[in-house]
Amino acid sequence: MDYGRLTAAYAAMEQTRSRLEIASLLAELFHDTPPEELAAVAHLCLGQLGPAYDSREIGLSDKSVLRTLALASGAALAELQVTYAEAGDIGLVAEEALATKAQQPLFEAPLTVSRVWKRLHTLSRETGTGSQERKFRALAELLHDGTPQDARYLCRTAVGKLRLGFSQMLLVDGLAEAFGSREERGMVEAAYNRHPDIGWLAQRAAADFGSLDAVRVEPGIPLRPMLGERLSSAEAVLEKQGGEACFEWKYDGLRVQAHLLPGGTRLFSRSLEDLTPQFPDVAEALEQALPAGVIVEGEALAIDEAGNLLPFQVIARRRGRKHGLAEKLKEIPVGVRLFDVLYADGQETLDTPFVTRREQLEALFTPSDRVACTTLLRTADEGEAEQFLLDALESGCEGLMAKALDGGYRAGARGWQWIKYKPDYRSDLADTIDAVVVGGFHGRGRRGGFWGALLMATRTPTGFETVCKLGSGFSDEDLAALKARLDPLRRSEPPLGLEWNLEPDAWFEPELVLELLGAEISRSPIHTCGGGYAVRFPRYKRQRDDKTPETATGSDEVVAMFKQ
Ligand code: ATP
Repeated sequence: MDYGRLTAAYAAMEQTRSRLEIASLLAELFHDTPPEELAAVAHLCLGQLGPAYDSREIGLSDKSVLRTLALASGAALAELQVTYAEAGDIGLVAEEALATKAQQPLFEAPLTVSRVWKRLHTLSRETGTGSQERKFRALAELLHDGTPQDARYLCRTAVGKLRLGFSQMLLVDGLAEAFGSREERGMVEAAYNRHPDIGWLAQRAAADFGSLDAVRVEPGIPLRPMLGERLSSAEAVLEKQGGEACFEWKYDGLRVQAHLLPGGTRLFSRSLEDLTPQFPDVAEALEQALPAGVIVEGEALAIDEAGNLLPFQVIARRRGRKHGLAEKLKEIPVGVRLFDVLYADGQETLDTPFVTRREQLEALFTPSDRVACTTLLRTADEGEAEQFLLDALESGCEGLMAKALDGGYRAGARGWQWIKYKPDYRSDLADTIDAVVVGGFHGRGRRGGFWGALLMATRTPTGFETVCKLGSGFSDEDLAALKARLDPLRRSEPPLGLEWNLEPDAWFEPELVLELLGAEISRSPIHTCGGGYAVRFPRYKRQRDDKTPETATGSDEVVAMFKQ
């Protein structure tokens, strides 16, 4: 098919903002495309050379495309640079340059979709010395044989900025309309969620539309991940999930979908990119723990020598790193906390209820420091869920993920079967509180040797009243600084004038003031502030060395905040 047919469709799609119209234009385009070029057309409509998990970058910079344009059009490079600076769109510069091209060539080889597709693929594989030059010549050749309109889209594609402004889902609409009907888009989408390669899907839809219904998860091909909604109270979560749910710690890691294949393991990110080259040790740890022939999902985390989980930032340093990888691997070992199984025993498990999937997952392997399942609590009790959230926050997690007991794995969908449950710091309590440290609780795990949580108090005319147990928001540096500051303040008895119910592991001289943020003020049977008020889900912000206990927040102010 002539590449011009494709660029005419691009141009028409750019003229409208209506999704329905775009879908119809796509449907017509798919209809006109011969089967062997369908995959290319579908990918090119997204400006891609393949699916996310097998992506190839063309890797041409705006600067080198401008040089190519100068060569292909005979225009002066300096002039093109000026136009580009004004227009900001390489496509328009290309179109204009080629429209005013001094002389038209006598003979042109036809510019077909296949030719463009193959050439762009060759370009993407070019590396090493002279590769820029070769890319440059190849693009010039294509530009030479195309129309000015072709040049507009070729150049945009070459620099990775096709930007037609629509996503894969509109292509799904287009495919339904072209080869089935609009009413059947659900089936096409379900197939895409299980096999997110739009080129493959286009070919299959054209060849045998009805067979899309039979598309299943396939080891080696990542499926689109399930996503959750968000709530900030245990009551609301339980109500949404039918009165009882499985709450899991929500780790601050990197989501990994692992395909354990007989020939080796492949790891995919949340956006379906191939992570395998960056995390060979994650693959190895999973291979040692799990049998081949399964797809599992979990969070990859960095692990320190004591087996404690460290946050995402540590592991993030690894992404994209190619050089010095071996040394880096030794420095930060990685572990995985698994939360789902998506394929086992030769079939997908998406329609299996969550609790059964979890049992299946647990039966697959024996947990170790490196590979284990997420910490989970099944409960129908709000209080228990809330306490579990506090434990998770204290252990450095961001919150909990609540999972509906009978929920299936809805690939590619966001729904109430998964709910992110964490305190909402934007709500009632706009103001921070400056409270005094009066006690400390020994830290466990990653916080071993430090004060893992602190008993905080507000001021009264005669002394202090406890207002919360502060156990979240500390960085490793904060923990060390607080320990250095608090150890010399230890005392054997509670401070004079302190009203308390909750006994810490150690008491401190009331001297250090900390600023903290809370989700809200609530009535509390444990804390004594104002006769029974507490800050819920407190988070540490910083030390207030400029404040003394006498200028800390008063119990009366906390009660006033509650009444507000
Ligand atoms: P989303 O993925 O929902 O678009 P996001 O990327 O901002 O949003 P969050 O909403 O903060 O992430 O949380 C969802 C993510 O939490 C998941 O994608 C997963 O990486 C991570 N996660 C951590 N622990 C769990 C768990 N136990 N179960 C499911 N997901 C978990």
